[in-house]
Amino acid sequence: MRRSQRGGPCGAEHVPIEVEGNSLKDRELIALATEARERAYTPYSQYKVGAALLSASGAVYTGCNVENAAYGLTICAEQVAVVKAVCAGERDLMMIAVVSGNGGTPCGACRQILNEFGPNVRVLVGDASGDYQAYALPDLLPDSFGPMQLRSG
Ligand SMILES: [Zn+2]
Repeated sequence: MRRSQRGGPCGAEHVPIEVEGNSLKDRELIALATEARERAYTPYSQYKVGAALLSASGAVYTGCNVENAAYGLTICAEQVAVVKAVCAGERDLMMIAVVSGNGGTPCGACRQILNEFGPNVRVLVGDASGDYQAYALPDLLPDSFGPMQLRSG
């Protein structure tokens, strides 16, 4: 695994990590999500979440939750990671690790957002101790609505 700067409109914090082949293991993605969690901005809930998203290209995009004094504007860690990936030109998501203190699963909105670019994405849900559970997105979002419905309607 090597880090590389990939130019793009997403700003200086955009540092995808190139992965050689499929060598990135679950534990490595969990570790990256745990690292991203440390940067969470959560002055209101103190519920810190980190995410690390592996795209089909092999690059990894991280995210953390960013709260706002206007609570409804809070952004989830998974959404930050997806937006960074899409902004860099990615359209095919393979796997995401999401780490919180108690192993909370992605919220409904994040499940829907992941479905747009990775209907079969593997979802690793970890806690502060490093333990994690693996899911397939269809298990977390059954009978989903996605791009296919708009193509066949
Ligand atoms: Zn969410």
